[in-house]
Amino acid sequence: METLLPFPQFVTSSTDATMSIERAVLASIADGVIVNDLSGNVSLINQAACRLLRVEPAAVIEKPVRALFASFSTRARLALIDALERLDHDPYSYGPGEGITETVIELGSLVIQAHLSPVLTEIGEFSGIVTILRDITREVEAEHAKSDFVSNVSHELRTPLTSIVGYTNLLLGHAVGPLSDPQASFLGVIQTNANRLVTLINELLDISRIESGRLDLDIRPVSLADVLHEVAEMIRPQCDQKDLHLTIEVEPEVDRVLGDRNRLVQVVTNLASNAYRYTPSGGNITLSLARSDTSARVSVADNGIGISLEDQAKIFQRFYRVSNAAIFEAAGTGLGLPITKMLVEMHGGRLWVNSEPQKGSTFTFVLPLQTDEPTGGGVRPDELPVANKTILVVENDSDLARQIGRQLRLEGVSVLTTAWGEEALQWVHQRAIDLITLDMALPDVPGMEVLRRLKADKTTCNIPVVIVSIIREKNGEEWGASEKVTRPFAVEKLITSIRQTLSLQNANSSG
Ligand code: ADP
Repeated sequence: METLLPFPQFVTSSTDATMSIERAVLASIADGVIVNDLSGNVSLINQAACRLLRVEPAAVIEKPVRALFASFSTRARLALIDALERLDHDPYSYGPGEGITETVIELGSLVIQAHLSPVLTEIGEFSGIVTILRDITREVEAEHAKSDFVSNVSHELRTPLTSIVGYTNLLLGHAVGPLSDPQASFLGVIQTNANRLVTLINELLDISRIESGRLDLDIRPVSLADVLHEVAEMIRPQCDQKDLHLTIEVEPEVDRVLGDRNRLVQVVTNLASNAYRYTPSGGNITLSLARSDTSARVSVADNGIGISLEDQAKIFQRFYRVSNAAIFEAAGTGLGLPITKMLVEMHGGRLWVNSEPQKGSTFTFVLPLQTDEPTGGGVRPDELPVANKTILVVENDSDLARQIGRQLRLEGVSVLTTAWGEEALQWVHQRAIDLITLDMALPDVPGMEVLRRLKADKTTCNIPVVIVSIIREKNGEEWGASEKVTRPFAVEKLITSIRQTLSLQNANSSG
């Protein structure tokens, strides 16, 4: 196969007889195509990419691909740089054409989707990364219109429904006098069905918010053990009424996860209420929490009606309900599981089911644990002195950099912040720096390169470095740094790592 020629030939006009068919094809496709080599420099870029990014080809060729993302929002830039780093780190776990990420970028009035994949040669050698940029503005507008419609209609329905539910409850509570048996029974039917509608509307709103990216998670450290206990207490009265035996098995010392507590309660409640609805009287339901490697594993198991293999493949689709009498009797919408699955995935987790008809079902989800506890040799972090130190925060996410800076300054630390690796490398020679926090995804040079240069220079090699990265597999030492914090994290976690690292440094220099 002919190798693609470098850029100048690639963008030559169609009158150039030497233009290869591959390049002609690339030049004529509407999607932007950017290829970077192993050193992260742009080796090829087509016209569509230049148009979308509003760059001149000559200005970007052989320049760092990261520089192309400078006009994106911090979030998009971070996501793209993270994706490049993940591909660089582990290019071989993706099949041909498989990418690891699809990121949506807003660029002016355009919405662009980026898809990144490793470029593997015919002999399987990793030779760079191809980024495809696709203009999906129209699709996103149509999707927004649809979800605005669903959400407006849902809101409009919710208002009258609130009155229906409220007044029905008043009547059933004998607020305006006693009821005859048939009246109470009819009102009971109204109440049940109005409640079904409320559930359906809330689920539709959730689906439309998740799909339009408008559901924001309030991420904090969460104890899943507390979540399980809360849900168990919530459903216990109903289980007792139905003569279902509810047990909770929580392994001690499962670390916290980072998540939105209310949404995690919703996830476990959905699974537990399914177990309740699809298990006949006298059955068992078990909620359990265990540690599995670097994840927390939550299972909701029942010995109810079970699900056939064929249906297991479909129950996570919207509105799918298994068609049998037991399911028909239990009120439901078929939206609970798709929402539950999407919520788990928004938390970086995975949800699946094991089930056998007539034997029961176990729904399990795993979430990454917050496992970056630094190895500080038993020193209480809040006792360590950080005041009067100077810390250089090299961080691409400007919001996060501000947050870290504010927190550290409160503790009497002098803080310098920059998003640029080159600038950080200059500052370490101009100021006495006690510690560096180093984001691995920087806009100009890879964080790894900054670390390498710090360690290669005898005037800077002893400055402790706390790495900030999304890559979970390696610890700080394997990177050649003092410590590592994995994204996403609570700022307190990074501060703890900083304290621990400084304390170890103190101990080493005084001992
Ligand atoms: P809903 O329960 O409201 O119908 P879900 O999306 O929560 O909607 O579940 C989809 C379908 O999956 C259910 O209708 C039922 O057929 C099946 N299902 C879910 N959980 C269980 C369970 N624990 N046991 C048996 N079937 C289940």
